[in-house]
Amino acid sequence: MADIVLDKVSKSFPDGTVAVQDVDLEIADGEFVILVGPSGCGKSTTLNMIAGLEDITSGELRIAGQRVNDKAPRDRDIAMVFQSYALYPNMTVRENMAFPLRLAKLDKETINAKVDEAAKVLELVPLLDRKPANLSGGQRQRVAMGRAIVRQPKAFLMDEPLSNLDAKLRVQMRTVVSRLQKQLGTTTVYVTHDQTEAMTLGDRVVIMRGGAVQQVGPPQELYDHPRNLFVAGFIGSPSMNFLHAAVQDGSLHTALGEVPLGDRVRRELEAADAPRELILGVRPEHFEDAELVDEDTRRRGLEFEAPVEIVESMGSDKYVYFTVEGERASAAELEELAADAGAGDFAGGGGNLVTRLSAESPVVEGQSRRVWFNLEKIHLFDPTNGRNLT
Ligand code: ATP
Repeated sequence: MADIVLDKVSKSFPDGTVAVQDVDLEIADGEFVILVGPSGCGKSTTLNMIAGLEDITSGELRIAGQRVNDKAPRDRDIAMVFQSYALYPNMTVRENMAFPLRLAKLDKETINAKVDEAAKVLELVPLLDRKPANLSGGQRQRVAMGRAIVRQPKAFLMDEPLSNLDAKLRVQMRTVVSRLQKQLGTTTVYVTHDQTEAMTLGDRVVIMRGGAVQQVGPPQELYDHPRNLFVAGFIGSPSMNFLHAAVQDGSLHTALGEVPLGDRVRRELEAADAPRELILGVRPEHFEDAELVDEDTRRRGLEFEAPVEIVESMGSDKYVYFTVEGERASAAELEELAADAGAGDFAGGGGNLVTRLSAESPVVEGQSRRVWFNLEKIHLFDPTNGRNLT
């Protein structure tokens, strides 16, 4: 068993920077966990503490049940893969992969067998005699992974391993990493700032901000039930739209019209002692061209009409930006939270409503169009603390 447990782990640097604060995290044996968040949120520091490359200021770190706070990195039996491949240029692929095994003083036959096996898994067999200079970026990253897996460590720690690759290769390598992790079943902690990687790779995602964990859960759960404004704005691309919403006589007054409050939500608002000014969140994919919505579906949502500003055709669907009048979310707290989350201009009170409509929608830039959105998928946030009330 190689579970990894962080128990109130914090890290302060000598200059007073608190990089990580009271992080509690239990990573199960064999689990694939992604640490994600904006730049400077403490992901790499967290990973480096697990690796033993950074001291832990307070709290406890346990690997396979053992406290390892004071253990040297080499005694933790973990392998790290970085964004820079750090291959030895004068060694062949085989020699590079064999290197950690030679250090461990294994006999030649065992080393060769292990390298051959890893090369097969990573489809590197035809490249074993090449030098790194004669490999593509993706191949080099596979060699770096090969070097990590030959040792059969208790855990893999990966810090943005794909961020040096071009977009297409990154997508290919994502599937390689995913398949490899499933095949080996080794506990893996993977750091990225790319929310697509976070959504597609891991069993669970840990969203960090300002050194603290915001939410932990399977990707779909974070997408469907973001705990706060920050998580809602961070997960999903394009980001969720945020609008000002005033509670009045049992409904919400918004720039998209009057949104009725269901009994359940109303009860929740009462129970939560929610303020009368809220933030309405609607994801781009929960809008549709009103003409393309059948009667049954129509009843589950609301329609509004707005001028089309920009249409971006994606082939399978299109992103349509609408100009909506009226008050938009502009609370200072929201602005700060959403900007951190990369939620775009709209959150700050300017900009447009972004929607993802079917490719068949005959929208024309400059003309008005009726749009439907799904009321069953909306989110309501308390702007004073960002909490999701739905
Ligand atoms: P990125 O995605 O940009 O790599 P990150 O989420 O990995 O960011 P960390 O590298 O963990 O963030 O840094 C967390 C915080 O700690 C940042 O504010 C950073 O400036 C600070 N920090 C990192 N290393 C040091 C150091 N040696 N001394 C002081 N502060 C540091």
